[in-house]
Amino acid sequence: MKSVNPATGDVIATYEKTTDQELQAIAEQADKAQQKWRNRSFDARAACLREMARLLESNKEKYAELMAREMGKPLAQGQSESEKCAWVCEYYADHAADFLEDDIIVSDAEKSYVTYNPLGTVLAVMPWNFPFWQLFRFAAPALMAGNAAILKHASNVTGCALAIEELMHESGIPRELFRTVVAGREQVQDLIQNEHIAAVTLTGSTRAGKAVASTAGGALKKSVLELGGSDPYLILANADVEKAAETCVTSRLINSGQSCIAAKRFIVVEKHYKPFLEAVTELMKGKHFGDPFEEGIDLGPMAREDLRDELHQQVQHSIEAGAQCVLGGNVPARPGAFYPPTILTEVGPGMPAYEEELFGPVAAVIRAGDEQEAIRIANDTSYGLGAAVFSKDVNRAEKIAARELEAGCCFVNAFVKSDPRLPFGGIKQSGFGRELSHFGIKEFVNVKTVYRA
Ligand code: NAP
Repeated sequence: MKSVNPATGDVIATYEKTTDQELQAIAEQADKAQQKWRNRSFDARAACLREMARLLESNKEKYAELMAREMGKPLAQGQSESEKCAWVCEYYADHAADFLEDDIIVSDAEKSYVTYNPLGTVLAVMPWNFPFWQLFRFAAPALMAGNAAILKHASNVTGCALAIEELMHESGIPRELFRTVVAGREQVQDLIQNEHIAAVTLTGSTRAGKAVASTAGGALKKSVLELGGSDPYLILANADVEKAAETCVTSRLINSGQSCIAAKRFIVVEKHYKPFLEAVTELMKGKHFGDPFEEGIDLGPMAREDLRDELHQQVQHSIEAGAQCVLGGNVPARPGAFYPPTILTEVGPGMPAYEEELFGPVAAVIRAGDEQEAIRIANDTSYGLGAAVFSKDVNRAEKIAARELEAGCCFVNAFVKSDPRLPFGGIKQSGFGRELSHFGIKEFVNVKTVYRA
């Protein structure tokens, strides 16, 4: 496995794959370690998570450098990511015992209640885009619930995956309870079927989610899928156009455009179309891309050249199908996987920019006659991860968010973001299951009914 610096194209490290025999032993040992871990008190588990939080805070510069080198994230953003991971560790250290307290339920029994047992060892298949956050938002609740975890990270961020394993062990998590494996896709499929694996969680593309979920389904194992998105942002008649444009641009360019919950389709009612487009163009023009180690950079390179090329093809095919490119849209003549902030207008059905996820700094601006048409276009997608509505009529906007949009996370006058206190996840082709909040910690537990006559 190779790690390549996406800003230069240089190979920065190579790693040996974990062998099939090693994988078998790791799964078996995790199972044994979990039998002990499940009997440790919440306080004992929380002590490890608090130490994790401390290490994430105190080593944030080191982890940010690792992310910048392996997947091009600008340094400041990598530091914030490490801080957010510390937050989710603290959050579950504080709340897991309450979330998993027995629920007494009155029935015809003398006593009946629900209790929550851990499931066992969970395989975590993770993406490169937030290499620390994606893992910790799964691992903090899963470990607090008493599970073991095996991490199979995206193959371009093996350095991050190994750093996470080291951090876990340094925080007091038993060595066998959390392991990173350097595995290929076929090995993942075998591992899911391994008798010592109880469940699997995948964050990644819809394609990968389908492959993993069908193997898990075939083996009758629980799966949670956090997949791609094509989040619509609706700019309605009463919107504050300047503020909406700022929020949309910030969201579109987070992590150099490589976020599942980035604003991807800007759906603008006729009245605001022109001023909104002008404002967005002005803002996106002012964003600078460059080496993620340089200060003052808004965007780094994309994570890999093949991903940049795929994005560029989606842009080209959209233009061939009638879209207009009003900003960017060209591959810069320099080494590295760079792509400029790009805006496509006149985007409509049948075009990649309308139908597919654009996982990079490309905004698709879509015209809508009125509010009803904007809602229809917003839902006219196979995805259902996040969505946002902009209007000064906040009650109306909230009603649209709460009742009419087909997505797992709907925000009003703000961009979609994850927060340990709020559940996160999608519907339709964006996956199933929820992470974070009390919902997240209950995904990998046996919700057990106890009845005493
Ligand atoms: P990806 O190519 O789907 O890879 C994700 C993970 O799945 C990697 O570890 C990958 O391993 C593995 N994988 C891929 N195909 C597999 C298969 N057939 N069997 C077993 N494992 C397989 O996605 P990515 O490019 O890393 O991440 C970008 C995607 O993730 C976007 O679509 C984005 O929207 C989505 N995402 C969703 C969320 C969310 O919370 N909903 C959050 C972040 C990202 P290899 O690297 O070895 O191929």
